[in-house]
Amino acid sequence: MKDYTKSKAAFVEASKIMPGGVNSPVRAFKNVGGDPLFIDHAKGDHIYDIDGNKYIDYVLSWGPLILGHAEDNVVSALQKAVEKGTSYGAPTPLETTLAEMVQKLVPSMEMMRMVSSGTEATMSAIRLARGWTGRDKIVKFIGNYHGHSDSLLVDAGSGMATFGINTSPGVPDPLAYDTLTVAYNDTAAIKKLFAEQGDEIACVIVEPVAGNMGVIPGTKEFLTALRDITKAHGSLLIFDEVMTGFRAGLHGVQGLTGITPDLTTLGKVVGGGLPVGVFGGRKDIMSDITPAGKVYHAGTLSGNPLAMTAGIATLSQLNEEMYTAMDAKVTHMLEGFKRSADAHKVPLVVHHVGTMWSYFFNEGPVNNFDDVQKSDVKFFAKFFKQLLQNGIYTAPSQYETNFLSVKHTDEDIDTTIAAFDDALTKTLK
Ligand code: PLP
Repeated sequence: MKDYTKSKAAFVEASKIMPGGVNSPVRAFKNVGGDPLFIDHAKGDHIYDIDGNKYIDYVLSWGPLILGHAEDNVVSALQKAVEKGTSYGAPTPLETTLAEMVQKLVPSMEMMRMVSSGTEATMSAIRLARGWTGRDKIVKFIGNYHGHSDSLLVDAGSGMATFGINTSPGVPDPLAYDTLTVAYNDTAAIKKLFAEQGDEIACVIVEPVAGNMGVIPGTKEFLTALRDITKAHGSLLIFDEVMTGFRAGLHGVQGLTGITPDLTTLGKVVGGGLPVGVFGGRKDIMSDITPAGKVYHAGTLSGNPLAMTAGIATLSQLNEEMYTAMDAKVTHMLEGFKRSADAHKVPLVVHHVGTMWSYFFNEGPVNNFDDVQKSDVKFFAKFFKQLLQNGIYTAPSQYETNFLSVKHTDEDIDTTIAAFDDALTKTLK
């Protein structure tokens, strides 16, 4: 049995000074009925808690660390950069370098702005869409999560889904009222909504592969319909690729599907583990941002030199072969999980797109939030804790995604398949 004594004590101390003992809710393990692990350090695909326990890490800081923890080139670039100062509040060539790298990989981002989180990226993109169109209403999909800004905290996934909340106290009614929500992958419903209110809708924001209710791919038919219908009504289409960017594939979901949004938001991998978000897209629309245009956007630490350095060091190492290799490893791992579940007669649905993967204790199919909610979350909670005991660190919620890094080896994958099987056996006892 792993000993969590020091983590438990650290959580007691943290809870005295931080609400729930954490700085972001899903970290709290509340949904799976345990205390969070407090981390000491991490390297490659391994993470070590303060009790000295070692785990294969599939959370990877909730996505950013595609090269693994403390990757040598990222670390040495940061060490050099920090000597030159941590922030200037004035432009640096690093910002242009990262922007050019992003544009090469995601060409629809003709112009872009750097921010410090995914939340800021989506919040700013929504403001721009409203300012550009002169309309207030926006559309999002049930179970999609776009960060914690007011307009987007309606029927959201991630922690909101984990804790069963559909909006938050503090979100003014008029803002929630202007956020229209539709079931994910429901093409008929979005067509109906646009037929009724299309000319009042500023934008549709979507996770083109949903990752905040587990992994659920948007169907080609659905994403194509979103593109066509927004265009027909003068609304903007925003792909929130904060999670899928450089994860679903090197060029995001827009690269996989060939569907081009008007605006895109990025986060996570683009900052290589430091706080970076990006919003960008069509030049004519982006030119409306201050000081070039009228829609206000700013940030003391936007384009921070350390954050840009980590982003550059990360993106410069990515290539197609890495994604092919990672995809093959995820496929192999999920086939192993499925074999194990079938042998134990446990209903299991496995989904993955590129390096994002998840499993649902569910009869399936799982195509939207209603389907995810049919999953056995009690079984998930027990199973998760057993997996942790077996040295595998995964997302502590049925409503979250797991990730892979280039550092996960074939041996790690086989270890994980064996740990999965053992955890199922023990959970069923
Ligand atoms: N958009 C998506 C798709 C996300 O998955 C997240 C975070 O998980 C966000 C936006 C918000 O990003 P951040 O947590 O950096 O504010």
